[in-house]
Amino acid sequence: MKGNFPIQQWNGVPTPFYFYDTDLLKRTLQAVKEETERYGFTQHYAIKANANPRLLSLIASYGFGADCVSGGEVQAALDAGFPADKIVFAGVGKADWEINLALQAGIFCFNVESLAELHVINELAALQNKKACVEFRVNPNVDAHTHAKITTGLSENKFGINLSQIESVLQVAQTLTNIKVIGLHFHIGSQITDMSAFKDLCIKANELQDRLQQKGYTFDNINFGGGLGIDYHHPNHICIPDFAGYFAVFNQLAERRANQAIHFELGRAIVGQCGSLISRVLYVKEGEVKKFAILDAGFTELIRPAMYDAYHRAENLSSELPEQTYDVVGPICESSDVFGKDVALNEVRRGDFIAFRSAGAYGEVMSSTYNLRKLPTAYFSEDF
Ligand SMILES: *Cc1c(COP(=O)(O)O)cnc(C)c1O
Repeated sequence: MKGNFPIQQWNGVPTPFYFYDTDLLKRTLQAVKEETERYGFTQHYAIKANANPRLLSLIASYGFGADCVSGGEVQAALDAGFPADKIVFAGVGKADWEINLALQAGIFCFNVESLAELHVINELAALQNKKACVEFRVNPNVDAHTHAKITTGLSENKFGINLSQIESVLQVAQTLTNIKVIGLHFHIGSQITDMSAFKDLCIKANELQDRLQQKGYTFDNINFGGGLGIDYHHPNHICIPDFAGYFAVFNQLAERRANQAIHFELGRAIVGQCGSLISRVLYVKEGEVKKFAILDAGFTELIRPAMYDAYHRAENLSSELPEQTYDVVGPICESSDVFGKDVALNEVRRGDFIAFRSAGAYGEVMSSTYNLRKLPTAYFSEDF
């Protein structure tokens, strides 16, 4: 089965481009909203997954907050209509101008990843006569069982404050006049499909809160980050992730203290399935041992296969001929510019439209102009 694409209307549209299924995005947003609100949880969309302005405005209209990891993202969130008091700002290396921008805007909180950063936020907040709200990002040493390059919650990763150091950081924070500690933050990785990682996270968070409570620390907010994965192999059958199962884990296992707000920052699970990268076949090259489908899209438009060995389902939208096996490659002058090896596609001819599915997250937003290529245009289903 292939997805439903208006290819008759794409004649003359330059490729490669991104195509977003607005209807699927809306259905996904509705599902996340319902499952988040079922338990009174709060959702901040992780802007880094896809910062397309049209897409951001649509997401903001559902009442979600935004999770940002740079000053540029904080600005994009504000521009798209996310209320400042629903913006959270994480990242191990916040520059002074980024902190100042967020202070000026009056964001909900900084998710602070080191003592060094805490001191700088305190100083910059003092200069603006403000109190900065912070959550501490704790590295809970939980193995997310995902790709090494998208694991963030192990002690060896650069993210967060180690469990053993959190208490001393809280002590310091109490002495800083322009800091207000409002919570704890966790984010253990991305493309997590094994719920046991989230169960481990809940247990670690409970233990930590118990330990800190004994020392007199309580928190108004717990933020469990994002990380819920999508099914890259079945974009047509499982196009909306199991949000119900995901939130049920936290509802069951995370011990919620009185009047405590629980926050999430999903990115990929919200936008991943609604986007496809559309390219055309330039050439079919019959090699000695391989047949290559050479496309006009490369890792400049979709870097996940080259960067994370990621799989994206490829579909030939123009052909119903019997399947053949191809190495599907791009035009970039790098051997890593390969979308997939030994990929079964309906027989490919020059000019055919090839779709890479499940490319709504970490796709368009990671595109580059390497080889002096043009950045891809984005279209939405309602444009055709
Ligand atoms: C990337 C990121 C997210 C979103 O991760 P997904 O896997 O896309 O859900 C959430 N929080 C933080 C701090 C992040 O860096």
